[in-house]
Amino acid sequence: MADIIRLLPDHVANQIAAGEVVQRPASVVKELLENSVDAGASKIELVVEEAGKTRLQVIDNGSGMSPADARMAFERHATSKINLAEDIFRIRTKGFRGEALASIAAVAKVQLKTRSEEAELGTEIKIEGGQLEKQDFCQCPKGTRVAVDSLFYNIPARRNFLKSDAVELRHIIDEFERVALAHPDLHFRMVNNGHDLFDLPPEGRRQRIVHIFGKRFREKLVPAQEKTPILALEGFIVKPEFARKTRGEQFFFANGRFIRNTYLHKAVLQAFEGLLPDGAQPGYFLYLELDPNRIDVNIHPTKTEVKFEDDRAIFTIIRTALKHALGQYSITPSLDFEADRTYRNTPPPTEKPSAPGITINPHFNPFEQGNFRGSAPQNKPISRDSQEWESLLNQLPEVPQTGQGQMAIPASAGENSGKVFLQIGKKYLVSKHGQGTLMVHQNRAHQRILYEKLLRNLASANVASQQLLFPENISLQAGELELLEAYFPALRAMGFDVDRFGQGDLVIQAVPLALEGLPLQAMIEEILENEKNLQESPEESQKEKMAQIMAKVAALRSGTFLAADQRAQLVDELFACESPYFSPEGKKVVVHTDLADFDKAFD
Ligand code: ADP
Ligand code: MG
Repeated sequence: MADIIRLLPDHVANQIAAGEVVQRPASVVKELLENSVDAGASKIELVVEEAGKTRLQVIDNGSGMSPADARMAFERHATSKINLAEDIFRIRTKGFRGEALASIAAVAKVQLKTRSEEAELGTEIKIEGGQLEKQDFCQCPKGTRVAVDSLFYNIPARRNFLKSDAVELRHIIDEFERVALAHPDLHFRMVNNGHDLFDLPPEGRRQRIVHIFGKRFREKLVPAQEKTPILALEGFIVKPEFARKTRGEQFFFANGRFIRNTYLHKAVLQAFEGLLPDGAQPGYFLYLELDPNRIDVNIHPTKTEVKFEDDRAIFTIIRTALKHALGQYSITPSLDFEADRTYRNTPPPTEKPSAPGITINPHFNPFEQGNFRGSAPQNKPISRDSQEWESLLNQLPEVPQTGQGQMAIPASAGENSGKVFLQIGKKYLVSKHGQGTLMVHQNRAHQRILYEKLLRNLASANVASQQLLFPENISLQAGELELLEAYFPALRAMGFDVDRFGQGDLVIQAVPLALEGLPLQAMIEEILENEKNLQESPEESQKEKMAQIMAKVAALRSGTFLAADQRAQLVDELFACESPYFSPEGKKVVVHTDLADFDKAFD
């Protein structure tokens, strides 16, 4: 038989390897920024066009490269950062695998211009799809400029897989922020579609954080610090009362590199235990310095996941240091017995903990906001255009036959008039129904009611909106406005008057009538959070999504007491809805039990 095994041609091998390194424009940004940091640049500029799908450019004033190195840089496993195998254990640079440029060049059109200090002329190289197109001398400033055009132009499947510009831009900003936070001593700039998004002069860590995340962060940060033989920890945590429900600001850096480590994240969670309301996330910016020998950064090709040799000790150090920081800043609630005991059980390895003898209001709830209740029963009479409860139940729409436990509500409703609802746990409304019970989830019921109201609003040609007496300005973090802009048309169609304001803020001048009193900041945060987690492009059914978000933000919370007549009204309005059985997010709203269920329970 003839020999059939061949080595893959280089450009094919590179394209395959690129799959690991280059997932999206943001991956390119990360690699290029890190190369510039490694090259000793003091100023690094990122230029983005159309979320990097058209063009990404990184310009630095670092060491530059010789003509031969410039060519070599695009070979796979070509790196200036490692000579011996042992070097891997001493890594202080970001890169070392020598794969990034080769991978990027395999899936894009790359132009490189670079010049070292001593050279008079620089080098220009063009590579497309891994094939060298041009190498020449050129005039250029000291340093390196890499332009990456038409990413994935030769792999249509990958290109089609990219998300909307807003989502891809968010990923790029995330990478940019990580590198900029890791190196506050360097000057970083980011320009997006011709607009300055960031201009961060060399500064301290605290200023860098404030610069990136906004002035609001100035009062939010508490410094944390600890020095032990195995680990030096410095950084900031966000005061618990500012904790958000989003996983936004959580940063670990190890030796100047952003890392992910779920185990160490747990150490932070433990330090914050009992201080955060349900569902809130701690914010932190923690910089770890430790012997590079004792870190294994090699377990993931993009190097954000790392392993530590002493991870248990590091865990304890972090938890203790953060508890200490929280205590020092008088923000620990009065320690109950439980908390006190766990605290004493884990003495910090170095210094004694100074038990924080602080008392503050343990019932403090940062999430308690103005008591917006939308069209909740207690504020406004529910419009009586919906029919009476009794006749409503007679005309209940077909109950979907999916999901077990979701039982049909009998249409016989003779005994429904004057229905009494118990409120259980300030969360569920329960009443006798037929030979069983009818149970309604109050929050979801209200979501459903608001949702349908909003959609009706949308369907009508002229939406009633209410001019705000005081327009609301919402300050945003960089890039968020760009994300939100994609939703302006939908928001306007719903009756919001929204626009850009100044550099990067949002102004809301009018809201839909149905949503007077809606907490706008919370709504915007919810839209952004939703956008960040979005798996598909936002284009289709944007309005439904918006209505869903607003209903969620505006709906009566679980835990709200309702008077007897309010309970009945809520259920009344629910059953006037087109689909009362599911919340806009598809969760159950109504559960019915019958006698058989009771019999079963007493088996
Ligand atoms: P790695 O960073 O893992 O070494 P890369 O493919 O990212 O691999 O880069 C290959 C080599 O190209 C680097 O080792 C470095 O010598 C050189 N290089 C890349 N980018 C720059 C830059 N911006 N300035 C100077 N040299 C660079
Ligand atoms: Mg690199």
